[in-house]
Amino acid sequence: MRITLWRSPSCNRPHFSFENTADLQRFMAGSDTDPDRTEYARNTNPTVRAVEHRVAALDAADDALLFSSGMAAITTTILTFVKAGDHVIMFRDAYRKTRSFVAKTLARFGIEHTLVEPGDLAALKNAFRQRTRLVITELPTNPYLRCIDLGAFAKMCKDARAKSLVDATFATPINLRPLDHGIDLVVHSATKYLAGHNDVLGGTVAGSTSLISLVRELRSEMGPVADPHAAALIGRGLKTLSVRVARQNETALRVAHALEHHPNVERVYYPMLESHPDHTVARSLLSGGGGVVSFVVRGGREAAARTVDQFRLATIAPSLGGTETLVEPHALLSYADMDEEALSHAGISPGLIRIAVGIEETADVVSDVEAALNQSV
Ligand SMILES: *Cc1c(COP(=O)(O)O)cnc(C)c1O
Repeated sequence: MRITLWRSPSCNRPHFSFENTADLQRFMAGSDTDPDRTEYARNTNPTVRAVEHRVAALDAADDALLFSSGMAAITTTILTFVKAGDHVIMFRDAYRKTRSFVAKTLARFGIEHTLVEPGDLAALKNAFRQRTRLVITELPTNPYLRCIDLGAFAKMCKDARAKSLVDATFATPINLRPLDHGIDLVVHSATKYLAGHNDVLGGTVAGSTSLISLVRELRSEMGPVADPHAAALIGRGLKTLSVRVARQNETALRVAHALEHHPNVERVYYPMLESHPDHTVARSLLSGGGGVVSFVVRGGREAAARTVDQFRLATIAPSLGGTETLVEPHALLSYADMDEEALSHAGISPGLIRIAVGIEETADVVSDVEAALNQSV
């Protein structure tokens, strides 16, 4: 019998299997000394766990969990903390799938919600009800990069005994650590900056040991744990997160300045510009503005399409946070299903373009943007 081939110590311990029944009983009684040991890969697995430890460190959290996508992280986290009869508050400019999950799917289970205008703390305060259990914000938001005062937000939630959840995908843990401001839970779409190469899906949630263990239980039931191969890619991406984000902060700021001075541009949205409505708050919270810049060109949908067609370095695609610069005409991509009236109701200008800068040379990205605008008239 080739016992050593099939039962070498390294493949037998410490994951998924047991030396003997005494070892099994020790594990089942919860008295194993290795807290990361597991008997089944849907609960956790070593590669996923290694990434979770690093995400927890990045987000300054006790613990973190890795999921198969950002939406898996968000929906599992939301479901952990609400039940029938509860009420959820979120901002109107939330990620579209998060908004439809709360508005449509949660509604099917008797969970109500209120949408609040971005940045409006007074409206947020008024939206609280007896049964408000969860309040969700993104920071910065998409596509206008609104930033709410997180300290005030966290305090309002604590006073109302509601959990606060921040989707900090656009900020990354390099530019913002929401937990330092009293927020309960922070989620990221790891598909974006954390993995960083536009080649894998993933999502994370981080927070206190007690809250994260509740989410972990539901993750085991629903099964959206990250695949170990995806986890390995995300883990590799994390190693370069800080240098990528530093470059993206710098390039995006340069792009924002160039856009602000261009005659074809009606309006630029970037948190580190003084013209941004939340500039002061953004300055106090963020160590960098992130890699996304939104702007409105003169001439509406057609002008936006013409401009986007002139980009040479940037690729037309949704998503953000990867190594390559991506550009999207918002009204034709993320909101393609809406006519002008619905767009204006959703607060989206027809001429809106979103650029998500990559890690190419800053000067090349800026030249590409300037040339596209010059040639589109
Ligand atoms: C992309 C994104 C999500 C969803 O993440 P997936 O990994 O695509 O499921 C959620 N929130 C924000 C802010 C995002 O940008």
